[in-house]
Amino acid sequence: MFELPKLPYGYDALEPYIDARTMEIHLTKHHATYVAKLNDALKEYPELQEKSVADLLKSLDSIPEKIRGVVRNHGGGHYNHSFFWPLMKKDGGGEPDGDLKTALAQTFGDFKTFQEKFSAAAAGHFGSGWAWLVADDAGKLSISTTSNQDSPLMQNFRPILGLDVWEHAYYLKYQNRRPEYIEAWWSVVNWQEAGKNFQEAKW
Ligand code: MN
Repeated sequence: MFELPKLPYGYDALEPYIDARTMEIHLTKHHATYVAKLNDALKEYPELQEKSVADLLKSLDSIPEKIRGVVRNHGGGHYNHSFFWPLMKKDGGGEPDGDLKTALAQTFGDFKTFQEKFSAAAAGHFGSGWAWLVADDAGKLSISTTSNQDSPLMQNFRPILGLDVWEHAYYLKYQNRRPEYIEAWWSVVNWQEAGKNFQEAKW
């Protein structure tokens, strides 16, 4: 059965950019619910419990129709949040280095331009969802968004960086001011983790 991961830092580690209460509720209520509902849906399917959540999402078409929607929403929620937590850290921010820095410069011109385009995509996404930096089959980078808890894995992309833009991710501190949350989030991004995701996305 799937389990709620532990945060790699304390609830208050991302203050003042993301407040401790939001982090606690986000993990122990929202993420925990995705895990519980995914497990509940898979109760009668022991063979599916053996798979990774990434594999479930990559092959949604093969999931029994009766639970496909639940796996998509709650499996997606579990995957996306498990991916999201390590992409932040105390005293994060700055810019990536190494191969990811080079690839961002090749794709977007420079880091600042990438950052502006990602922020615009995140701010402009209508309703609940996520903003992503993804790599395609050829390793080419692009910015995209998904609605609800859909994952780039469902579209055959590999996520490098992701930002939760559901209101539950920022409403306590920022209310309707999503652009302020996005701006603040850059100060807690863990670029080492994003760099690791980029290395693992190469194939
Ligand atoms: Mn969330």
